[in-house]
Amino acid sequence: MEQTLKHLVDCKHVLLASHGNPDGDAVGSLIAMGLALESINKKIYLYNNSPIPAVYRFLPSVDRITRHINHSIRFDTAVILDCGNLERIGPAVSIVNKVPVIINIDHHITNTGFGFCQLIDTFACSTAEIVYRLIKRLKVPINSDIATSIYTVILTDTGSFRFSNTNQAAFAICEEMTERGVKPYEVAQRVFGTYSLGRIKLLNLALDSIEISYNGKLSIMTITQDMLAQTGTKSEDIDGMIHYARNIEDVKVAALIQEHKNGAGNPKCFNRFHVSLRSDGTVDVAAIAASYGGGGHSSAAGFGIETTLADLKAEITNLADKL
Ligand code: AMP
Ligand code: MN
Ligand code: MN
Repeated sequence: MEQTLKHLVDCKHVLLASHGNPDGDAVGSLIAMGLALESINKKIYLYNNSPIPAVYRFLPSVDRITRHINHSIRFDTAVILDCGNLERIGPAVSIVNKVPVIINIDHHITNTGFGFCQLIDTFACSTAEIVYRLIKRLKVPINSDIATSIYTVILTDTGSFRFSNTNQAAFAICEEMTERGVKPYEVAQRVFGTYSLGRIKLLNLALDSIEISYNGKLSIMTITQDMLAQTGTKSEDIDGMIHYARNIEDVKVAALIQEHKNGAGNPKCFNRFHVSLRSDGTVDVAAIAASYGGGGHSSAAGFGIETTLADLKAEITNLADKL
């Protein structure tokens, strides 16, 4: 912490980045940390490799997050948020690797410890909890923009205070954020309030895709590119759907297979997939994801893989034997 603080006090041009296909933590921690550094006169550049999901586009300064980095800027510091490994930020890795000081702020159990300074706390409910502690130590006043970002992260990363990462700090920080002007109802309306008809139709297809292993302990939900096209939805609309597969009685592990672009929809066609894993808390899915080159938390993890849909399903189904 002390080393990180010293660097943040001394730095001038800071590149801040978080993981692609961002969730609330990736967007909100990026903004909160960026605005806090800006308020102590640092030049900040906010980077994320993906479009920001519609539900987070209400966040203050969200339009300042860019997908392209100006090569002429000489960054002295890079702050990487909510990433278990540096590659999670996407193509900017080559630029970040040339930045003299990389600061790694994260709460994933599989964090590789990359960077010059690490602020990793696997007990933190979200990366934003660590950002909050840093902001306090930097003595930056928390204005309503920073407060809205931090509150939104904690609300979403804890699944509205339902997931196993929900800790005492989650409530304490959120209470403080409401004192700083956050209106919980307004944030909830933005984040959970409205769904497009397409998203509901996609949910219908996703629910219909659920398969259960012979012993009832593992469920698989599959979302193909064809389903997205059919319902006019985007991959960001998939967010949260895995919980339906996870909440089924007796299920210990749920897998959501998401087909990436270029998929022919043919179960025998070689393709790229993202697999999300969730457990009921009795199975360490971070270890399973790590064995496929991914990572995450013990009850929520993910990995990318190139294979056929049929082989992937067979591989995941085999995991049921050990549950
Ligand atoms: P998701 O699979 O996107 O629902 O993510 C679940 C958790 O696993 C999140 O905390 C992600 O940051 C993490 N995660 C997902 N995919 C990867 C990956 N390829 N490498 C490391 N962590 C991942
Ligand atoms: Mn995240
Ligand atoms: Mn997170």
